[in-house]
Amino acid sequence: MRSRYSAYCHHEHNLQCYSYILRTYHSAVRAEHSLADIAAFAKAVRFIGLKILDSAGLSAHQVHFVASYLVADKLELLDEISDFALEHGQWMYCSGVLTEHPVVRLSRNDACPCGSGVKFKKCQHNQAG
Ligand SMILES: [Zn+2]
Repeated sequence: MRSRYSAYCHHEHNLQCYSYILRTYHSAVRAEHSLADIAAFAKAVRFIGLKILDSAGLSAHQVHFVASYLVADKLELLDEISDFALEHGQWMYCSGVLTEHPVVRLSRNDACPCGSGVKFKKCQHNQAG
C-alpha cells in the first residue's frame, strides 16, 4: 500500500510509476484499470499526506488509510479500507471501500494542509503560485 502511494507521490511521475500501480492490482481486477486512467489521476492531484489507521477490527489482508491530496485549491481525502490478496507471494490490491468526506476549498491565506507551516499561496503545493 505504501509503495503504491509512493508511486503516486513521485515528484516526476513517469511511466514506471504508473505501470507499478497497474502491476500491483490483483490480476482479477487489473483489466478494469488502465495506464491512461492512472496517469490522468496522478497528474490531476498532488498528494500531501498518508495516514495508516488502526487496523483493529480489520482482517489481516485489509489496510485502512487516509491519503490527502489537492486538486487545484481543493483539499480532498481518500479514506479507504483496501483489500489485498496474495498473488505469487506479493500483496496485490483488489478493491476498497471508501468513506466520503466533504471537499474543503482552501483560500490563499490558509495554512497549507501539508503541514509545512506556510500559507497555501506560498507553499509548493499551490499549483497556481
Ligand atoms: Zn504545502
